[in-house]
Amino acid sequence: MKVVTTRAELRAVRAEFPRLGLVPTMGYLHEGHLSLVRMAKQECGAAAVSIFVNPTQFGPGEDLSTYPRDLDRDLRYLREAGADLVWTPRVEDIYPSGFATTVTVGGITDVLEGARRPGHFTGVATVVAVLLGAVSPTRAYFGQKDAQQVRVIQRMATDLALPLDVVVGPTVRESDGLAMSSRNTYLSEGERASASVLYRALCAARAAAEGGEFDAHALRRLMAQLIVGEPMAEIDYVSVADPDSLAELATIDPARGALLSLAVRFGRTRLIDNVVLPPSR
Ligand code: AMP
Repeated sequence: MKVVTTRAELRAVRAEFPRLGLVPTMGYLHEGHLSLVRMAKQECGAAAVSIFVNPTQFGPGEDLSTYPRDLDRDLRYLREAGADLVWTPRVEDIYPSGFATTVTVGGITDVLEGARRPGHFTGVATVVAVLLGAVSPTRAYFGQKDAQQVRVIQRMATDLALPLDVVVGPTVRESDGLAMSSRNTYLSEGERASASVLYRALCAARAAAEGGEFDAHALRRLMAQLIVGEPMAEIDYVSVADPDSLAELATIDPARGALLSLAVRFGRTRLIDNVVLPPSR
């Protein structure tokens, strides 16, 4: 496994791999990341991972300075998972002096996470464009855990005609259903126990929809009621949205399906999760 920092080092090592799958990450890796690494390795024959806590996707007052980091542990996990190349750029390797470009994806970034975290997706799209340009992978891998991010990257890749495939991996969960996240480490013991309510609420709404409840307002209310039952949880949003436009729905059209998603705070920790209602055939 080669570990590189500068773009020149990256370029030299990149030439060794005819096909390469890239998994962009912010480090503090867990099984969600590693599942993408294994998928990349299996599909492309070689897997690259970038580890970069991207300052431009954090808003003022967010957790940039406290974001968890443990490079030694990450590298150990990545060796075990079979990664071939790890890029750990410094801020100046991604944004060298004179850097003046931003990538903004319109429309779908106005809602959900984009509405609550202004500038977040411009930070994400810009850094991913730099990572993809520098690594030039055959395929790039992203987790369904960040559903809106997936839509933003797919939109950017299509619109900019990027010569690669965007692949989406399923959300990896803890045994109680909590989606794995580097931010779970912020939770106190009590908060961690309550945090399983995110997935319980999503599953309850999915079950209701599968049982014929297509009223999106009723599904939002069902999710909200379950979350309110957890005293430590504070709802940021619950959403039943069109899977493509991400616009809030009044009624689910079973032929189109829906994205059920939510953001919930536990103290200073903000967690997100989602499930997809697939279109019925
Ligand atoms: P992050 O390090 O949080 O930026 O995540 C890097 C990549 O891993 C993103 O594409 C995430 O969507 C993905 N990811 C994070 N958590 C999970 C999870 N629990 N299951 C699957 N993918 C995940």
